[in-house]
Amino acid sequence: MLTTVEKIIFIILALTSVGFTYHGFKTIFDSIRKGRSAPELKNVPINLVKAAITVLFQRTIFKARKGLSAIHMGLFFGLITYAFVNLIDVLEGFVPGFELIYGGKNLSNAPTGLVNAFNLISDVMSGFLLIAITVFFVRRFITKDKALMYRDNVLLNEKVKAGAQNSDSLTVDVFVVMHVSAHLMTQAFRLNEGPDPFMPVASFLNSIFGASQTGVHVAWWISLGWVMFIIPYLSRSKHTHFFMSPINLGLAKQNPRGQLDPAVPLKVLNGNHHDPGAKHIHDLAWTRVLDAYACVQCNRCQDVCPANFQGRPLSPSALEVNKRYLLKEATFGSHPDRLLLPLTETVISPEAVWSCTTCYACVRVCPVGNEPMADIVDIRRRMLIDGAELDSGVQNALQSLATNGNWMSKGKRLRGKWAKDMEFPVKDATAEPVEHLWFVGDTASFDERVVPNTKMVARIFNQAGLDFGIMYKEESNAGNDVRRVGEEGLFEQLVEQNMAAFGKAQFQRIVTTDPHSFNTLKNEYPQFGSQWEVKHYTVTLLRLFEEGKLTVKNKLSHYKVTFHDPCYLGRYNGGFTAPRKLLGLLGVEFIEMPRNCENSFCCGAGGGQIWMGKVAPGERPAENRIKEALTTFGEGASGKAQLFIVTCPKDMIMYSDAVKTTGNEGKIEVRDIIQLIAEAVGVEEPKVAEAVPA
Ligand code: SF4
Ligand code: SF4
Repeated sequence: MLTTVEKIIFIILALTSVGFTYHGFKTIFDSIRKGRSAPELKNVPINLVKAAITVLFQRTIFKARKGLSAIHMGLFFGLITYAFVNLIDVLEGFVPGFELIYGGKNLSNAPTGLVNAFNLISDVMSGFLLIAITVFFVRRFITKDKALMYRDNVLLNEKVKAGAQNSDSLTVDVFVVMHVSAHLMTQAFRLNEGPDPFMPVASFLNSIFGASQTGVHVAWWISLGWVMFIIPYLSRSKHTHFFMSPINLGLAKQNPRGQLDPAVPLKVLNGNHHDPGAKHIHDLAWTRVLDAYACVQCNRCQDVCPANFQGRPLSPSALEVNKRYLLKEATFGSHPDRLLLPLTETVISPEAVWSCTTCYACVRVCPVGNEPMADIVDIRRRMLIDGAELDSGVQNALQSLATNGNWMSKGKRLRGKWAKDMEFPVKDATAEPVEHLWFVGDTASFDERVVPNTKMVARIFNQAGLDFGIMYKEESNAGNDVRRVGEEGLFEQLVEQNMAAFGKAQFQRIVTTDPHSFNTLKNEYPQFGSQWEVKHYTVTLLRLFEEGKLTVKNKLSHYKVTFHDPCYLGRYNGGFTAPRKLLGLLGVEFIEMPRNCENSFCCGAGGGQIWMGKVAPGERPAENRIKEALTTFGEGASGKAQLFIVTCPKDMIMYSDAVKTTGNEGKIEVRDIIQLIAEAVGVEEPKVAEAVPA
């Protein structure tokens, strides 16, 4: 249907478009390749295929915002359909007599059923695309959904502040509307024999505008002319995610969630010198430079960030967005010099860097497999090497960890004091063989608010006949939070100390009460030679019940309880089942909070936050969580005591404080699960002997 001149013009435009697109993506890949080497990725082709399937079924976007995700899914399928629609449109333009209207009746041997099905799908999808794009337009430009905004205290690239994301979105919105409408009009103008029942939208337009060959030409050019412009534009806009997110998913982190990338990947160590951590954008592993191009800029990660919730200047999405616009300015713009500016001036403020609790919620929720948290840890690593000023509390904790092996400024010999005060001997695993080496952790060993629970764990283990021992003064902090603060050297020192202590002991497995210790012992110590099985105490306790070594004597139906999943037990290590099964055995009335399991909300203590001397203003995540628990329990007295159950010593402290600061004492009580187990199995603290009168 196109004239020869039109065909030549189209081919020239198409080749120009391909040229600009090639240049765009080459620039992007060159920039990604400048990133530091990443931990080795295995089975890349298989993972890319899996990622393509994941993207095809849009599996990852439904982790949050289900309604909008459904519309996004429709938009995605609409655009996929349009790849075929455009191909057919080109054929209709170039091949004389090739038309699919009316079941392709002008074509010899056309599979009428198939053609009608295609016409119906493309027609309905066109209508849906227009509706979906209108929803997203209204959300961004009319109702101005707050979820797409950033707090004023979050560092933002100047272009982003000036509305670069909005102009990108507007360009694509206008493209979709123009492209789809023009395609529908092309088909409407073709219908010279009246309506086609398999093209309801085009038929409706035909009933208004009628058929016209000139109309077909004009609409065809508007529809496909836009495509020639938009494809190269996409590589220069935030919509690179169309192409880069499947690649990013295919190359996503392969090691366990709880295992941070080493400070300097081995390949780099064997090659050029690099300081650990990241000061500039290309100090990041190339897979995390790629993150910036894959980012959908959806802010799902910001929604779940506890630091952002509290009003702190951290937004994981702003971090990725800033990376993206920094790279754009440097590669497509005229500011390559900006790549030499520290990341703490261009993508995230120093205060935001130190606000992260390393809860992993942002990484977990990201639909394209981005890891903003890993960037933050790398930036911390370099800031420490460069002598950045640290919060005094963190500084004191690190000093104490270096000298005492604990963050609480306690002498090493005091670590096992609680055990020496017990009514039965607690074995020293470094002196005699035990089956279970109990790695107690700092908070459970030293903090007077938690020590009674530690003692109760020992009593329950003892009652069940568990062969266990502790390492007394030989145990050091496991180093989980030290590593996440960025102190890689100190982390390695602590690992060395603990590995030396393990070497002195004879045991079959490690059991921990602290999820943070559990995480690093399980996921990171194997990199340093540890081969032991590591269990959280909830798993060990459940096994003791299942083997009949513990039995419930008193059902606890007088308690209404909810349970908080600690990040390092739940989201990092999938430890969701054992605590819930235990609560089930105890006979309590159990109610889940809305944010549970993978979606649990961090208490705010991780990543060194519990060490901070300066308390940030705003409602603390733990306070918000206590309110969530009370809302879950609902109004009105049920006659039952309301309990907030924890399985982490740090949670015991964070939430007990939060109950006080929110003025909810008397309404809800924080208890470690061991306290309920003790009550159910009938183990009590021994009575203090009454003083004998002189
Ligand atoms: S790890 Fe948690 S605190 Fe840190 S940026 Fe992600 S969501 Fe926010
Ligand atoms: S990092 Fe992931 S979750 Fe965050 S804005 Fe980008 S795509 Fe969305």
